[in-house]
Amino acid sequence: MHISPSTLRWWLLITLSCLHSLVHAEPILNVSQNPAVTAGEYTRYFQESGRRLEVSEAIEQFAAKSHPTGISESISIGISVAPVWLKTELQNDATEATVFRFSTETPWLDVIDAWLIHNGKVIHVESGGDATPYEQRPMQYRYFAFETELPPGATQLYMRVETVGPMAIPLRIAESGLAVQRDISSGYQYGLLYGIMLALAMYNLIIYISIRKREYALYAVYLVGFVINSLSYTGQLHTWFTPDWGPYFQDWLNIFLMITYSIAGLHFARVLLNTKSHAPWLDKVTVGVTVFIPAGMVIGALLNNLTLSLVLAFLLNTSFAVLFIALGHTALRNGVAAAKLFLVCSLTAAVCICISTAAVAGLLPYNDMTFKLIEVGMSFEAICLAFLLAQRFRTAEVEKQLALRSARIDSLTGLNNRRGFEHAATPVWYQQLRSGRDISVVILDIDLFKQINDQYGHVQGDEVLKSIAALLQHGARRSDVMARWGGEEFLLLLPDTNEQQAIKHAENLRALVAQARIDIDEDKIEFTASFGVCGTIDGQFFGHPLDADDLDRMIDAADKALYTVKNSGRNKVMPATQVLASA
Ligand code: GH3
Ligand code: MG
Ligand code: MG
Repeated sequence: MHISPSTLRWWLLITLSCLHSLVHAEPILNVSQNPAVTAGEYTRYFQESGRRLEVSEAIEQFAAKSHPTGISESISIGISVAPVWLKTELQNDATEATVFRFSTETPWLDVIDAWLIHNGKVIHVESGGDATPYEQRPMQYRYFAFETELPPGATQLYMRVETVGPMAIPLRIAESGLAVQRDISSGYQYGLLYGIMLALAMYNLIIYISIRKREYALYAVYLVGFVINSLSYTGQLHTWFTPDWGPYFQDWLNIFLMITYSIAGLHFARVLLNTKSHAPWLDKVTVGVTVFIPAGMVIGALLNNLTLSLVLAFLLNTSFAVLFIALGHTALRNGVAAAKLFLVCSLTAAVCICISTAAVAGLLPYNDMTFKLIEVGMSFEAICLAFLLAQRFRTAEVEKQLALRSARIDSLTGLNNRRGFEHAATPVWYQQLRSGRDISVVILDIDLFKQINDQYGHVQGDEVLKSIAALLQHGARRSDVMARWGGEEFLLLLPDTNEQQAIKHAENLRALVAQARIDIDEDKIEFTASFGVCGTIDGQFFGHPLDADDLDRMIDAADKALYTVKNSGRNKVMPATQVLASA
């Protein structure tokens, strides 16, 4: 089939005009079907070029040309752009007028004017915005909002918005009752978020007050700083505390609050991750950023140059995100335990912050979710960091316990050392004193151990010590207390054991030691030990009931008994009573 160039041209034109009308068809917001909506996709807009337009001129422009429609819930055009005109075509199918609320939910838009036109007549005019003193605003609200009756049929809403900050216009059109519901749920959402943050801050502040570790205080300041910053950024702070101080004050306050939590956050991170010890240069950069940029901002404030300070504040916050990740990354490379979780949460928060910022700047669709993502990211981060601090607390506690334990334990044999013996034996000893039951002490010393060391070396000597410790542990009851008392001397405290039973026990041990072997290549090491024993008989120690100081006397007596064995051929058990009787 042959298609002539002119036919093709007609087809193209028809298709294009169809597409054109599809794209640029006047969108109509039917408020009866959609009683609560953020109306970006129903709103057409254009920007003023040069002169300020009258509303009649804007109406003509909307009628004369087709202007683009918003592509998401909010119309976001960019930062510090020319004033924007908006038009929303409304259709009310109800038979009676209904009260609606019209609002732009970003609190920083400076000057906003709105006109409602019904059947060619202006039926409502409203002005407001950030620059309007609080009590002169149509509704005493943190952002521009007004309520009015919307008559049945078609009504056009025209708005003009002028601002120096980000031109993000989430135009909310909602039936009044639904708008109130939204207020309430938004109150709960912020309440929950700030509640979590402030409770965590308070808790960590209390920890700081009791243990004086800087990271807990810095973390608390970071959280409180973030809450105040968010309150200011969402306009809530000015609604409550500074409604009459004007937008100029608010701009300055915003940027200084914005950096407070970043500074606290950076210091928190470098202390938490111990950056100074593994990356001193990065630590210096971090400290430098938190000192010089704020200093520049203060100079900006003294020169009354908001733009300079604003640029520096943005620089600081960008550095904050970059440095946070750099601090985490360096810590991870240097094997800092907290680094992994720190990186995960700081990256998540950074992504959330980027998405929110991009949404406000008009680079991503702006909606409730993308706007509040920054808060969601921050609370996620706050909870992760709290978890890290808790882990750190635990690690410190475990280390303390380990240090205490290792101060009481002999590292070679795993038995108590002298200090550990005192710690473990004292309660056992007093328990026996109270009950009046028997108790005994056995002391043993390896025979000619010096020779073993000389013949086989110190390492094999150590093996002998370990094997004897194992023998002792193997034959012990749970209530027995054992210790490595000196170089090759061991001490046993045996509750509920009289001297006779202790002698038997020692005799068993002596036989076991004498049978023990340590294999080395073709050779084997054999060894023996000598034992001194001292114990009570029928709860009496040399004819009198035990008193508190008798433990030392018993050890002394057992030691003397051991000494006699050493002088009479070794590898024997000697009871103290026998030694004293013959003395
Ligand atoms: P006796 O039968 O009279 O007790 O003789 P001995 O050689 O066992 O006694 P002496 O007190 O002369 O020597 C004890 C030796 O124990 C000397 C020391 O080098 C050794 N020794 C002490 N502590 C350790 C240790 O932890 N490991 C090893 N391998 N040897 C140790
Ligand atoms: Mg010895
Ligand atoms: Mg000795």
